[in-house]
Amino acid sequence: MANFEYWWLLVFPLFFGLGWLAARIDVSQILSENRRLPESYFKGLNFLVNEQPDKAIEAFVEIADVSQETVELHFALGKLFRRTGEVERAIRMHKSLVDRTHLSVDQKLAALYELGQDYYRAGLLDRTEEIFSKLLDSSYALDAMRRLLDIYVRERDWDKAIEMTVALERKDQDYRRERSHFICEQAQIAATRQDMNRAQERLSEALFVSSHCVRANVIKGQIESTSGHHDIAVNVWLQIEHQNPVYLNLVAKPMLESLLASGRTEDAEAVFIRLLNQYQSLDLLDAAYHATLANSGAQPAYGMLRDYIRIHPSLHGFDKLLEAQLIDMSPYKRGDAVLIKSLVHRHTIRLSLFRCENCGFCAHVFHWQCPACLHWDTILPRRIEEISDSRLEMIDETGPM
Ligand SMILES: [Zn+2]
Repeated sequence: MANFEYWWLLVFPLFFGLGWLAARIDVSQILSENRRLPESYFKGLNFLVNEQPDKAIEAFVEIADVSQETVELHFALGKLFRRTGEVERAIRMHKSLVDRTHLSVDQKLAALYELGQDYYRAGLLDRTEEIFSKLLDSSYALDAMRRLLDIYVRERDWDKAIEMTVALERKDQDYRRERSHFICEQAQIAATRQDMNRAQERLSEALFVSSHCVRANVIKGQIESTSGHHDIAVNVWLQIEHQNPVYLNLVAKPMLESLLASGRTEDAEAVFIRLLNQYQSLDLLDAAYHATLANSGAQPAYGMLRDYIRIHPSLHGFDKLLEAQLIDMSPYKRGDAVLIKSLVHRHTIRLSLFRCENCGFCAHVFHWQCPACLHWDTILPRRIEEISDSRLEMIDETGPM
């Protein structure tokens, strides 16, 4: 009986020992599972929760050294930082990925692509160019080419921009409209340097690339009129009617000046009355009024203006009508009329804005390329007074008032 009791005393510790051993095995299994998520991961999360993103990045960067599985985490965080405007952090995150030696080729390219986007967002165009140039032979080629084109345009590097549109056309859409503008930019630079041969050669090239390139004819006419070749200038500008008549607004005033400079007042009146009847616009109305004034005198000019405004009423037209009335007005009435005219004129200036059809940006001066959305030909040379829907979203105050 006494032996039996001693035996029990030995069994109890043995059971406890086995239980302890079983518990040890479970804990070590759990620990081995947890080792897949390194301590830095939890540290990083903890820093993020406590809004200490700098320390969080350092912790996550540490994981990349340890584990392949956390690379996606870095990509996600990098994109998040860029989206929330923390571009410097996004750059550090993506740079650390680019510098890792153990990443696959695809992962490295993806990191490079993200880094390029970070630099672009930060406005570091030279670095963006460097990164996207490295991606031209990768699966990111098309996007890299579009980005590079955008950079060349922003840097006004027209040679490279032209080259890129040619390369892009093999993979992407038609870029002839943009290319003709880039060539016109080169023509304008040459004209400013008084290199007229180069300017003329570039303008012919622009029209060869796109026969619809109105801008080439606008510049061609300017060069001819500056050289005193007024008849040639007028003929060039008149071709715009067959390209896109709305752009006649841009050349109405210089064309009138060229016609008057060469003594063709009768032609001027005939041309502008015809154009005004066909394509009603405020610029053509101005030109038609002054042409009639120069050729037929004040009374017919006033009559033409009054008849036109009865059919097409506008504040700008009314302003012109007051101007025409002032010519024959007695000094007694003139004071009040000048006051009314100045009030009306101030309002017409407010409505003398050009608006981008793509983004709604408004400017007091005409732009071939919208300064806001960078699209070409989306601002038409037609003031918002002439357009029924005149919502103003943004006003460029840099233009002359
Ligand atoms: Zn725009």
